[in-house]
Amino acid sequence: MPKDKPFPWTCGHCLHKAVEPRQWDFEEEHHWHGRVYVVRIDQLVIPTCSHCGEKCFSMRVSNQIYEKLRELTGETLEEFHRMDRQLLEENDV
Ligand SMILES: [Zn+2]
Repeated sequence: MPKDKPFPWTCGHCLHKAVEPRQWDFEEEHHWHGRVYVVRIDQLVIPTCSHCGEKCFSMRVSNQIYEKLRELTGETLEEFHRMDRQLLEENDV
């Protein structure tokens, strides 16, 4: 996902050039070490297609969500990345 491309972006779902930044009260459940954490970010800016409603989770958005999850779990950044890699490797199998 190109980071600094000017809006509107082309939607990967419906191919309309209609993706603009939009604010959402974001809420998502994450499973971490066998526990469930609810990540809530008010007025998170997510590039969203105004044609079909598809949300585009750019690296920038994902990083904000991960940072919030890290806050909630109280993990160090190192541990967090280590676990993240482990999960990725497990998914590869
Ligand atoms: Zn679309």
